Amino acid sequence: MYSRRAFVMSTALSLVAAGTAQAQDACAVFNPSRQKATTPQDALRLLREGNERFLSGKMVNCNLMQQVRATAQGQAPFAAIVGCIDSRVPPELVFDQRLGAIFTARVAGNFVNTDIIGSLEYSCKVVGAKAIVVLGHSDCGAIKSTIDQVKLGNITEMLSHIEPAVAATKFEGKRTSKDKKLVQAVADTNAQLAARMILARSPILKEMADKKEIVLAAAMHDIETGRVSFFT
Ligand SMILES: [Zn+2]
Repeated sequence: MYSRRAFVMSTALSLVAAGTAQAQDACAVFNPSRQKATTPQDALRLLREGNERFLSGKMVNCNLMQQVRATAQGQAPFAAIVGCIDSRVPPELVFDQRLGAIFTARVAGNFVNTDIIGSLEYSCKVVGAKAIVVLGHSDCGAIKSTIDQVKLGNITEMLSHIEPAVAATKFEGKRTSKDKKLVQAVADTNAQLAARMILARSPILKEMADKKEIVLAAAMHDIETGRVSFFT
């Protein structure tokens, strides 16, 4: 009787230990050796899995101050995200990532320019990130404003970066932001154009992609569901 109880106890304890180990694993910060062992496809998988956790409400609960201490001497993130400033699409939350895991560059309409591409070159060539994801989203205010040709202060010039996506989107009918299908079609085009532009404008990242040292992808976040879908 005693031994059976002891067995049950030890099984329960080892389950607790396994659970703790799992949580610690999920909260282990990326360091250079972990980053090196991550392939570009692994990096995309980690982001997909993170979004699944976000969708299911089973996000990893980490001690962030412990992560502050663990990353104090350096960072080795596995991916870089180019996203919109929209308050509903913070990459760290929708991909369920914490300190030291992903670089994020955010600008209204998730377009790329020299500054953003330079930031990506730093992320991948200098620090070793394995994947770049351009993350567009549905119902994007910057996309809608570009379709409606809004003119206002510095916004005018900012939106000029999104105009090529509007022009490249085939659409029958009146071009207005009231048309949700058009807004989504332009957002889809915009994210994919940005991903292509990164390679076209960065010989450094193009070479890394050709050598399969990094992977580049575009994705779309649906603000109504929280789901991120990758373009293939
Ligand atoms: Zn947006």
